[in-house]
Amino acid sequence: MNAPLAKLTKFLRLEADRGYDNRAVLGGLERMVELWREEALAAGVTSATVEAVAARLHDYSSLSPHSRQEALEGVWRLLEEADPDVGPPASPAASPSPNADRPAVHHEAPSAAPGAPSEAHGEMTTDDDLEAQGDDGGLEMAIAQPEATTGKAPALSAPLTTVPGIGPKSASTLAKLGLRTLEDLLWYLPRRYEDYSQLKTIHRLWYGEVVTVIGTVESIEMRPIRGGRMKLVECIVSDGTGSLRVTWFNQPWLVNQLRPGTAVALSGMVDQYLGRLTMSSPEWEPLERQQLHTNRIVPIYGLTAGVTARWLRRVVDSVVGRLAGRVPDPLPDTMRAELDLPPLGDALQQVHFPDSWERLRSAQARLAFDEMLLLQLAVMQQKHEWTALTTEPLAVDDDWVAAFNAHLPYALTAAQTQAMADVRHDLGSGRPMNRLLQGDVGSGKTVIAAAAMGMTASSGAQAALLAPTSILADQHLASLRSLLSEGGGLLPEGSIRLLIGATPAAEKEEIRRGLLSGDIRIVVGTHALLEEPVAFARLRLAVIDEQHRFGVEQRAALRGKGANPHLLVMTATPIPRSLALTVFGDLDLTLLDEMPAGRIPIETRLLRPAERSRAYRFITAQLEAGRQAFVIYPLVEGSEKVEAKAAVDEHHRLQDEVFPSYRVGLLHGRLRPDDKDEAMAQFRRGELHVLVSTSVVEVGVDVPNATVMLIEGANRFGLAQLHQFRGRVGRGLHASYCLLVPDTDDERENERLQAMESTNDGFRLAEMDLEQRGPGDFLGTRQAGFAELRLARLTDVHLIEKARREAARLLELDPKLTRPEHAALARALQEFASARKGEIS
Ligand code: ADP
Ligand code: MG
Repeated sequence: MNAPLAKLTKFLRLEADRGYDNRAVLGGLERMVELWREEALAAGVTSATVEAVAARLHDYSSLSPHSRQEALEGVWRLLEEADPDVGPPASPAASPSPNADRPAVHHEAPSAAPGAPSEAHGEMTTDDDLEAQGDDGGLEMAIAQPEATTGKAPALSAPLTTVPGIGPKSASTLAKLGLRTLEDLLWYLPRRYEDYSQLKTIHRLWYGEVVTVIGTVESIEMRPIRGGRMKLVECIVSDGTGSLRVTWFNQPWLVNQLRPGTAVALSGMVDQYLGRLTMSSPEWEPLERQQLHTNRIVPIYGLTAGVTARWLRRVVDSVVGRLAGRVPDPLPDTMRAELDLPPLGDALQQVHFPDSWERLRSAQARLAFDEMLLLQLAVMQQKHEWTALTTEPLAVDDDWVAAFNAHLPYALTAAQTQAMADVRHDLGSGRPMNRLLQGDVGSGKTVIAAAAMGMTASSGAQAALLAPTSILADQHLASLRSLLSEGGGLLPEGSIRLLIGATPAAEKEEIRRGLLSGDIRIVVGTHALLEEPVAFARLRLAVIDEQHRFGVEQRAALRGKGANPHLLVMTATPIPRSLALTVFGDLDLTLLDEMPAGRIPIETRLLRPAERSRAYRFITAQLEAGRQAFVIYPLVEGSEKVEAKAAVDEHHRLQDEVFPSYRVGLLHGRLRPDDKDEAMAQFRRGELHVLVSTSVVEVGVDVPNATVMLIEGANRFGLAQLHQFRGRVGRGLHASYCLLVPDTDDERENERLQAMESTNDGFRLAEMDLEQRGPGDFLGTRQAGFAELRLARLTDVHLIEKARREAARLLELDPKLTRPEHAALARALQEFASARKGEIS
């Protein structure tokens, strides 16, 4: 390594080790740098680097330790880019915000979502330092390099260090953005774009507009301002129609880069200063260079400390320029032409560096279509595989159905009757059923499950029902027994059993034996059903309630306990059609779109946090009338970070202070299963009047005497989930109420929650959720990966339908995609499916 660089790094390390006390060198770092400057220039370090380092360390003594650390890290980055051998940074552990303590010099510094890479453009003083290192020269060479000399194109999977100008240090910084290979970079899409394509002459400029100006530097000078704490570079640029004052803060090296006579492009917002138009900290670029940062629609990428907008743009440009045209295009030419979509290479080029908004839109449409097409193909192939399976047909005679119906305490709705017919047909079809039963809370799904299980058991086979909580499993056991054995006597009571974690060991053993011998026909259980070494003699039907609470593996595990058993999954989450088509495209769908007659709609009220006592008075009145109430809290235990009220503390408060003359119970996920069951049983028996609960009560619980549901921290829930909670009341004969109390007065939140007052339609609410919060809410944990599609949106029904149509046509023509013109598509599909394994049911 160059001696002056080595020396500087030594001092910097020492300074960092000492905790930035400015005592590492006698007289302080500023003094040292003055001397170092001469030495470095003499040793051939570029003046730009030297000046950039000096600018960084100017004022060092007056900085706080934190700012000092940041300054040194900035210097470190300069040195790294100058020479990759610089070695590990001064303080590897520390990574302060790149913008802390630095004056805001850009008109806006967009703040990124928490956890997301920060977005910054223009305001990082390191921007041009990197260019000054000749780093970018390397990149340009890469662009210019003729393919003949490089031989074949580098593999897409090659590491980023194969890009000239990216050393191991830069590569590890880029890895923080998840960028490791050339392909990663190719697909690192801009978060948004800045339109600098509007080119204007200086005499036509207006205050406040975002434009690009092309002109010549007339003069440039640097002067200290604010008592010498900052440096202002002031430049006059003219274009023959007028001249414009342009300023930058703390980028003193610009004086060397924008010498008078240089032709430049400047992009940014037109500002004013003392009545004259100016530009403050615009993006700039010498005119002779290919324009990436100015005079065009400029991509804005997510950044992280140590990666500047300008540098990343150059890197992406170099990689896109070399590789975009070489990525195999999965779409057959005929399809592409019919749909009027650009070739993949063009789309990739345009999505990074668009020539116009129009071409950007069509590039985005192309990439989104690819994603959706692959998703649809994956789902359809899955379904195809499924329907190729066979199983012994299970005939159900009319007498059985008549006997079942005869003992129901109510008449089935038309939707339920249809669902029963669907299920009966599937069981008899000789193919395993793979059906999603979707119906709003209270629409009566349980009775359909009971019928399916009864049909199976009556034929001598076995059925299992998996529920997410022991409370719910217990409730299902009761329903199944009452529908199948008690009144109707279709099955002996002992042939329907419950297996949960809390089941005593001896009983578990007995159930295991019963299942193995086939004496037990129906088992209802929780995860214990999967975890215990349970084997079945003849499992022919697996039912999964509240499917979104389970992962795909769990579904597969239950299914694996039989030989191609029928599968019925139930969900109360009213998944919007567009999403269901995609995510559950491989399932047949039965919809319970009708409520049992005689239900009184639940009245919902949104209260402000300050109105909580009104809610308590209302609940008290209901309790006095003999009814019961739920109070829901979003968290089990308070944490410092989340201000959600702790159900545990609130339970005490409500019991002691608010409802002292009533019995208040507590239910949360961390209670022992016995205690949970006991609390729920007491509430159901009416021994508890108020049940304070976390979201464990969300699913399925049925207590007809409960008429009020108070939801604290309502803003923390999605609308669909609130609707689920609300469905816990209104199950009996009495008018029921849902009270929402957000823990914020935020207007926007309130507006969102008002939808709960205006509709009882779970589908409407789900559609709104999908728009506002994305698909994550509707999908189980594993399925949330669908949310990570790059461009396609699962809310885009039009796109979904187009992709489905094309996917169906393709598979009809070439079911296994073996034709040569589908080779690239088949490969893409394989990659897509293996990356998403487990997300498609
Ligand atoms: P969910 O679809 O939310 O699982 P359930 O199956 O728990 O709904 O049914 C909710 C309530 O409605 C239960 O008390 C059930 O007995 C009752 N129920 C179901 N079907 C009907 C019907 N056709 N007529 C009247 N009540 C019904
Ligand atoms: Mg249910």
